Amino acid sequence: MSRFWREIPSRYNLVGTKCPNCGRIFFPTRDMCPDCHRASIGRMEPYQLNEHGTVVTYTVIHVAQLGFEMMVPYVMAIVEMEGGVRMTSQIVDCEPSEVAIGTKVKAVFRRIGAEGHEGPIHYGYKFVLEDQAY
Ligand SMILES: [Zn+2]
Repeated sequence: MSRFWREIPSRYNLVGTKCPNCGRIFFPTRDMCPDCHRASIGRMEPYQLNEHGTVVTYTVIHVAQLGFEMMVPYVMAIVEMEGGVRMTSQIVDCEPSEVAIGTKVKAVFRRIGAEGHEGPIHYGYKFVLEDQAY
């Protein structure tokens, strides 16, 4: 199996892991807590994150990567989730001027792009503004 397919469960469900020793939450999942090491091995617990987050910092992309040319300008942000989990993701369905540090956002599952015409379509999380109707 490819790496992508093995990653689907955590990507689709926003399920991370929680260290039973210190309570730290990780997303994507980890087998071991980097702070607790041995105390966490084999004891990491699945943890369902909620979809709400806050923009910590962001940048407006004007020159797109290959495959994203249609989207410029778009906003890439670091979003802090529950438990201090940080995700780097695109903020979609809004104007760049609507995003600011501290903006409340919500994770949505979206198509990210396809590798060529026959390649696998990649899905993952993006964020929309929290006050948007969905
Ligand atoms: Zn820990």
